[in-house]
Amino acid sequence: MARATTLPAAIRLLVLDVDGVLTDGSLYYGPRGELLKVFNVLDGHGIREAQRAGIEVAVISGRDSAAVRRRCRDLGIRHVFQGIAEKLPVLERLCRRLRVLPIESAVIGDDVPDVPMMQVVGLAFAVPDAHEAARRAADHTTRARGGRGAVREVCDLLCAAAARGPRKAGRPRAARATRAAGRKRR
Ligand SMILES: [Mg+2]
Repeated sequence: MARATTLPAAIRLLVLDVDGVLTDGSLYYGPRGELLKVFNVLDGHGIREAQRAGIEVAVISGRDSAAVRRRCRDLGIRHVFQGIAEKLPVLERLCRRLRVLPIESAVIGDDVPDVPMMQVVGLAFAVPDAHEAARRAADHTTRARGGRGAVREVCDLLCAAAARGPRKAGRPRAARATRAAGRKRR
């Protein structure tokens, strides 16, 4: 599906997958079957900086775990959706609630369930060890791996763009004009 790619400065909402993006994809089971996850401190700081730059951060995950709820609470992430089989309708509802357009949103994903979101947002990122379908759907692949600073890398990019210029310079209309002026369509 052809869609516009949005300039980083125009991104107002960053949506994160959890397994393979906020984590390295490993699932640890405790002695009573409870799910343990390892998060990266670099990502945590990046998320806070993005929030300070005025970017809303949301988590949409296929699984449901107490560890994720706790981590999101610690990071002040207010938009947390877990146990989500179909992620796109959740993203669309969140966009309506926040009055943000999907093309003013960015997604970081690593697997097939993330692809429908990646196809409608303005900026789609995949981690380097993502499933091929997610890498194909992405505008960019991060250098850092999931759970190893991939989220920080994207947050740094968005924060730097937000700091460089007034947000209106990168509104989607301008992004579409840039694209029409010669960037690839897919
Ligand atoms: Mg994943």
